[in-house]
Amino acid sequence: MTEEQIAGADGMQYCPHCAAPLIVKLIPTEDRPRLICDRGHVIYINPKVVVGVIPELDGRILLMRRGIEPRYGAWTFPGGFMEIDESVEQCAAREAHEEVGIHVEVLDLIGVYSRPGPQGPSIVSIVFRGAAGSDSPKLGREALEAKWVLPEDIPWDELAYETTRWALTAWVEQQRKHDG
Ligand SMILES: [Zn+2]
Repeated sequence: MTEEQIAGADGMQYCPHCAAPLIVKLIPTEDRPRLICDRGHVIYINPKVVVGVIPELDGRILLMRRGIEPRYGAWTFPGGFMEIDESVEQCAAREAHEEVGIHVEVLDLIGVYSRPGPQGPSIVSIVFRGAAGSDSPKLGREALEAKWVLPEDIPWDELAYETTRWALTAWVEQQRKHDG
């Protein structure tokens, strides 16, 4: 490797296709330096997709407290990294089922959030509204607690991430428009 590093590459040294050493190089077809091996495989480092869903039932939403790091103990809604073989809607439904044990019908989009930074890992967070099929959550291994809250009871000071706050703010705003 040269001393030049690619953000988010985390010291990746070998080509995942052929195991040859990777170097950082500005190649003619690209507009920024890329990781490339001597057989010409270019390795792109891109953001990961996280999908979340805000389950709704009778004017309340289901929030959960994270039982894993990072942000252990903080509040969020179900969500996680998208798997390679699913749609964003399938991911949202799966996360709701895995983390809080409920079935949701995935409804409209609340928002798409990203926060670019010079270093990885960076993510794109996609958040949907979801109609919950039942009001009794069954906690998965990644949740400490789950509860149905009214919009005015959202624990704004104890939320897990900035994206959690952005999505809940958008949800509250959409409800206000809907009710008003
Ligand atoms: Zn290669």
